[in-house]
Amino acid sequence: MKPRLNGKIAVVTGAGSGIGRAIAERLAADGADIYALDLAVAQVKETVESITGAGGRCTALAADVSDTEAMRAAFAGIPRLDVLVNNAGIAHIGNVGSTSAADMDRLYAVNVRGVYHGLHFGVGKMGPGSAIVNICSVAAKLGISDRFAYSMTKGAVLSMTMSVARDYVAQGIRCNCVCPARIHTPFVEGYLEKNYPDTKDEMFAKLAAWQPIGRMGTPAEVASLVAFLVSDEAAFVTGSAYDIDGGVTLLR
Ligand code: NAP
Repeated sequence: MKPRLNGKIAVVTGAGSGIGRAIAERLAADGADIYALDLAVAQVKETVESITGAGGRCTALAADVSDTEAMRAAFAGIPRLDVLVNNAGIAHIGNVGSTSAADMDRLYAVNVRGVYHGLHFGVGKMGPGSAIVNICSVAAKLGISDRFAYSMTKGAVLSMTMSVARDYVAQGIRCNCVCPARIHTPFVEGYLEKNYPDTKDEMFAKLAAWQPIGRMGTPAEVASLVAFLVSDEAAFVTGSAYDIDGGVTLLR
């Protein structure tokens, strides 16, 4: 069988780590030419090496997604775009009382303006049959405890997804988002190391048990849903927010 993304060009932001890296690797395995974007070329080195080592094609792009001119320059070099995955994002812990205005601005800059930049500079290069996936979160629908600023940004990702899906449906461009619960990435490890150095295993088990299915998801599982959504097999899917959450949204 022919790989389903053969001949397609894909940009994945935040491709140096975790979910973004898994998505870049999976789309490359499905045949796409990947532009792997992260803060610095050095951060996507391992992603580029793993893709090219497996016989795929991958070009590194360096840009801070919150920086308009850096994102303009990064997208300027891309001839056309069939697949765009806005994945880069940062986390923050705090309720409305402990979240400062500076925290709000920082989270907005990366998680909202960063996604806007991807959409703004990407959509003009896309044509009929192309597809966008924004990496959202269950936080957009549930407002996870102690994640005030983060939930705010993911709510915006959900509404940007619906807005773009509506505005570009006539041009044959699909736009969806995926809403993961906890996924086991380097971010989770760093969070536990920093906040619970002495009770890391206990906290890991607690975080895993939050999902009714009894574990965290894997980056590869998110990548597999994204790979479906950007493929022609999902040609009838647009303006949707797919939960990939071990049952959190409907069963808790
Ligand atoms: P991760 O392991 O921290 O990877 C994110 C990548 O994005 C890193 O390489 C990071 O670089 C990069 N990045 C951060 N800020 C950037 C910026 N301003 N410009 C360009 N690149 C930037 O995180 P992850 O867990 O894979 O999360 C990826 C996405 O999934 C995020 O949008 C996150 O909100 C979402 N998500 C994650 C989970 C989860 O449980 N992990 C659940 C739901 C949704 P640095 O390493 O230098 O920061």
